[in-house]
Amino acid sequence: MTDNKTLPTEIPTLYIVPTPIGNLGDITQRALDVLSNVDLIAAEDTRHTGKLLSHFGIQTKTFALHDHNEQQKAQVLVEKLKAGNSIALVSDAGTPLISDPGYHLVTQCRQAGVKVVPLPGACAVVTALSASGLPSDRFSFEGFLPAKSKGRKDKFLEIAKAERTCIFYESPHRILDSLADMLEILGPDREVVLARELTKTFETIQGMPLGELVEWVSSDENQQKGEMALLIHGYRANNDDNALPDEVTRTLSIMTKELPLKKAAALTAEIYNLKKNALYKWGLENLD
Ligand code: SAM
Repeated sequence: MTDNKTLPTEIPTLYIVPTPIGNLGDITQRALDVLSNVDLIAAEDTRHTGKLLSHFGIQTKTFALHDHNEQQKAQVLVEKLKAGNSIALVSDAGTPLISDPGYHLVTQCRQAGVKVVPLPGACAVVTALSASGLPSDRFSFEGFLPAKSKGRKDKFLEIAKAERTCIFYESPHRILDSLADMLEILGPDREVVLARELTKTFETIQGMPLGELVEWVSSDENQQKGEMALLIHGYRANNDDNALPDEVTRTLSIMTKELPLKKAAALTAEIYNLKKNALYKWGLENLD
């Protein structure tokens, strides 16, 4: 075991404190100690955090720090820290800064020479990955999927050939549209995992080829509810080579109306950052 330093030190410090993503039992002892002993808690939503604090009998004062006021309020908090106060930063759930506020505050603290101490704890992306069955040696967290279809498709095109596992957060009211866009770009064979309601009563971690996942989620309204993350298996040449995204083959088809296949394949490959041979081969097999 390592050293058991839990409590705030004498030096004014900003503590980054993860809170549960569902199950209150996931708060750590160290998080409770820090939240109880700091001078102030900077919270994304003071009412939401107030409920968590009262559950654990913590009476520390809170201060609102959310996406809309962070740039301006961060300076106020830095001044409080420089004046000798210790502050804990929390978000509504999980680890602050992970698709949550805190970036400006941490940056300004570090620039001002204020000590920043991170506590490990709940985070949906890591929780989902750990049980997904997808390769975890290399992964990227891509944040929330764009709200509009065009943005989503661009994002999927960008990661279509990435060999790492890619993880997105998604909201329940867009899940069907997002899966449809994903299917169009990545094809039905790509392995995708839907991780829903982690640590809660209806926790579901379901992985299957994308074509089947789309059908499964569409046919069961319960799978379209709650908090969710999507994890996409990295590109595997053997599995995914036949699945050129529709948008790519459409572009290639249009270009071949004006250009020889070789030239059209080279240009399309340049646009989408793909191999021209794969496009040329597809053209030979599929275009007149
Ligand atoms: N900071 C948080 C973290 O560390 O994971 C993420 C905050 S972000 C505003 C909220 C999103 O995270 C949700 O819309 C969902 O995509 C994902 N998420 C949060 N809790 C989750 C859970 N229990 N199960 C699945 N996804 C979750």
